[in-house]
Order: sequence, then structure tokens, then C-alpha cells
Amino acid sequence: MQTRLEKEKSLPIVAEVDVLVAGGGPAGVGAALGAARNGAKTMLIEQANCLGGMATSGMMSHWCGGTESPLLDEIFARTKASPLLPPATSERAAGWATAHEAQKTALQELLLEAGVTLQYHTRIAGAVVEAGCVKGVITESKSGREVILAHTVIDATGDGDAAAAAGAEFVLGRPEDNVCQPVTLMFRIGGVDHERAAFPGSFESRIDLPKGEIQTLGHEHLPFPAGHVLLYPAPLPGEVCVNMTNVIGIDGTSVRDLTRAEIVCREQMVRIIRFLREFVPGYENCYAVTSASNVGVRETRHFKALYELTEFDIVEAKLFDDWIATRNLFNFDIHSLKGPGLDEHGAQHKFRSKGKYSIPFRCCIPQKLDGLLLSGRNIDGTHKAHSNFRVMPICLNIGQGVGTAAALAARHKIAARDVDVREVQKLLMQAGIQP
Ligand SMILES: Cc1cc2nc3c(=O)[nH]c(=O)nc-3n(C[C@H](O)[C@H](O)[C@H](O)COP(=O)(O)OP(=O)(O)OC[C@H]3O[C@@H](n4cnc5c(N)ncnc54)[C@H](O)[C@@H]3O)c2cc1C
Repeated sequence: MQTRLEKEKSLPIVAEVDVLVAGGGPAGVGAALGAARNGAKTMLIEQANCLGGMATSGMMSHWCGGTESPLLDEIFARTKASPLLPPATSERAAGWATAHEAQKTALQELLLEAGVTLQYHTRIAGAVVEAGCVKGVITESKSGREVILAHTVIDATGDGDAAAAAGAEFVLGRPEDNVCQPVTLMFRIGGVDHERAAFPGSFESRIDLPKGEIQTLGHEHLPFPAGHVLLYPAPLPGEVCVNMTNVIGIDGTSVRDLTRAEIVCREQMVRIIRFLREFVPGYENCYAVTSASNVGVRETRHFKALYELTEFDIVEAKLFDDWIATRNLFNFDIHSLKGPGLDEHGAQHKFRSKGKYSIPFRCCIPQKLDGLLLSGRNIDGTHKAHSNFRVMPICLNIGQGVGTAAALAARHKIAARDVDVREVQKLLMQAGIQP
């Protein structure tokens, strides 16, 4: 490939904080609140124009699993109280179904109240690294390239863009072939008769309809690699969240792959709406309301940290001595890497956890870099373990733990890896978290 040299230039240092959180999804929201509520001068930068990541601009249907989290309860309560919701339906938004607009505002309120400085429209473009320690990030925005310095940078970008820029080691997707889980552009439809509508909530939801069984019809009539039918009632009247577009073989860290995925998903959307109108009672008059800001990427980089969480840790429901996120519960949600539906090796059935599991702080501490913590779906875990901890409530919990640790690192003027994890746990327990 031919190359051009980019001119060296000095960049302005526009802020210096204790904790800089990169990315405002569940993991970043948890991290920023964990840090700010424990006294750290905290800033969060986000490339989009809102908080929530996949929960909001990613247009996710619902927060999954049986994880316990007082912080998530607080987010639900604030969302439910939002005047942006129609009063008659606000009760439903208190649960796990995501009211996207109300939640964007609820999260923003919570972070501003905690004293977090927010900067939207800002993308991580690089890292400032000196002698094996991350000192800050280089950002790119309408204001140009700028530097923000921090005692600790928390990478909550999902893909780990800050950690990758800093040179942290990672594995992309499955180690044997770097294949990642499929991507999906979520969208919402309106005009659905909720009373008559079917809501298949998993690949195994088999529902008999007048024209046939719903998943069989999907496989027969939707364009490959789409084919499964996943529909979730949204908290707004007549609206449904559709998790049915499906593109395989995508590297979510490649702009060309992402563009290809967006194009294919938009083509699939047309066929999906036609399919729903023709085959599924209650959807005869459905229409597209809006689609997510970005195609949803399930899996990319798994960073090398001090501990790699495995599927066996989850199955055994381990409580690690250095836990920073507890009482996590979900299944092993590996989608087929070859087409629609579930992983054909049956991982979901082979691996069943015995109870709620914890995540150790070591999974969030990069092996070779100081000044940096990982948060959310980019922490160290196997491909199978990741399919479990990647869901939003667990990412929120990880964030809260990591943010709390980063606040203590700044308070004691030490590296985050040297923080006494017992002190982190004490603060988490004061915030209502139980081991
Ligand atoms: C299609 C799909 C369906 C899913 N279904 C569910 C479900 O039903 N329930 C559930 O609980 N989970 C579900 N998940 C999983 C879950 O949504 C994600 O794994 C989870 O949101 C990860 O949280 P995160 O905070 O680590 O990342 P994200 O939610 O992806 O947030 C990352 C944030 O960082 C920002 N960002 C990224 N790069 C940069 C950068 N370079 N600079 C600045 N900002 C940046 C992004 O804009 C985003 O706001 C699904 C995921 C997908 C893709």
C-alpha cells in the first residue's frame, strides 16, 4: 500500500482530569458515575450526540439477563420518570425494555448531576503514551485534534479504540480465525397491533402462524444471512424493536466492512418489513419508524489483561477475591457465524451457569500499560465468556467497578493496578452492591 507522511504538529491540551472515560455506552456511563460519585474529576467523551451507546443510539430492545445492579435500578427509575414518555405507557419503560429517547436524557441528567464533564461529537484518534504509561488521549472533532490528559483513561469504546491506539495487545474475535459474531442494524417499526402481534424473543421461540411456523417462514423468505425472527415490544404504543438484520464475516474495526454491513442491513430492512406484513398477524400495517445510528457490533477486540475470564468461571458462578462486578447472570449468546440463528455447536445448551458470577478487577488491567483500564465488552475474556458478559447490565456493572477503582487511583496518586481492591469493594458495597 502506498503511504503519505502526516505532518507532525503540536496539539493543544484542552483538559486535564483524574479520570477520562472514552465512550458513553453502558460501560462508560457506569465508569463515569463510579468515578465522579467517588470524588474524581471526571470527563466523558463520546463520538455520538448522546449517552447510552447500544442501549440508545444502537436502538437496543432491552437490557438482558438477571443481573442485580442498584445503578441499573436508578437508571430505570429515572427513565420511567421522563416527561418524554407518553404517560399511559411509562410504566413499561420502567422495566428492561429500552425507551431510547427517554433513556438518553435520563443518563445525561445522572452524569451531569454527578459532576461529569461531557463532550459529545468527539472521537478517540490516538493515545499519549510515555514510558509504558498512558497519560491521555488525542481526540478528533469539529474543533480539530486536541489532547486531554488524565491520571487514568478508561476505555469504554466497545472496540477498545483508545487501548488499541496505546498499543495494548488484543485478539480480534475467535483466536483461531479472528472471526467475530455477526452484526445487526437494529430498527423500530410502528403501526403494530400489540394485542394480536407475536413477539418471538429468542431464536428458539417457535410460533405457529396461519401461514406456517415463524422461524421456518423467516428462513424461507428472508434474504440470507438474515433469516431469524426476533421481535420485542417497545415501550411506545404500536412500536416494536426488530433484531433481524444479520451480516456475517464483518470486522467491526474496519470502516469498509462497516459500510458494507450498513448497506446490506438497509437492503434487508425492506425485505423484513414486507415479510412481517405478509406473514405475521398484527404486523399487516407496520412501517419503519427509525433505525440505529450505527450497525450494532457484537464483538471485536478482546484485550490481554492480567486475567482472562473463561466460560468455566461463568459456569461455576465464581466469586473472585478481587471482584469488581458481581451478581451477573446471562446465557452464552453465540450467534451462528455462518448464517441466521444460534451457534450450530450448541454452546448455549452446553454451557449453563450454576448461578450469578463475578468479574475480577484483573480482567480490566492491561498486561503491559499503566494509566489505562478496560471497561465493557472489550475486557479480557474468551470468545465464549464474552458472549455472556457483553450484555448491557453486566457492562454497566464492570464500568461502575472500574470507575470506582480509577477514582481511588487518583485520590491516592497511584497506578490503578496498585489500588487496594478491598477499598474498591468497600465503596461498591456502600453503593448497594453485594458480593
Ligand atoms: C445487535 C445487538 C444486539 C444486542 N442485544 C442485546 C440485548 O438485547 N440486551 C443487552 O443487554 N445487550 C445486547 N447486546 C450487547 C450490548 O448491546 C453491548 O455488548 C453493550 O452495549 C456493550 O457496552 P459497551 O458500553 O462496552 O459498548 P457500547 O454500548 O457499544 O458503547 C460504546 C460507546 O463508545 C462510543 N465510541 C466508540 N468508539 C469511539 C471512539 N473511537 N471515540 C469516542 N467514542 C467512541 C460509541 O459511540 C458508544 O456510545 C446486543 C449487541 C448488539 C450489537
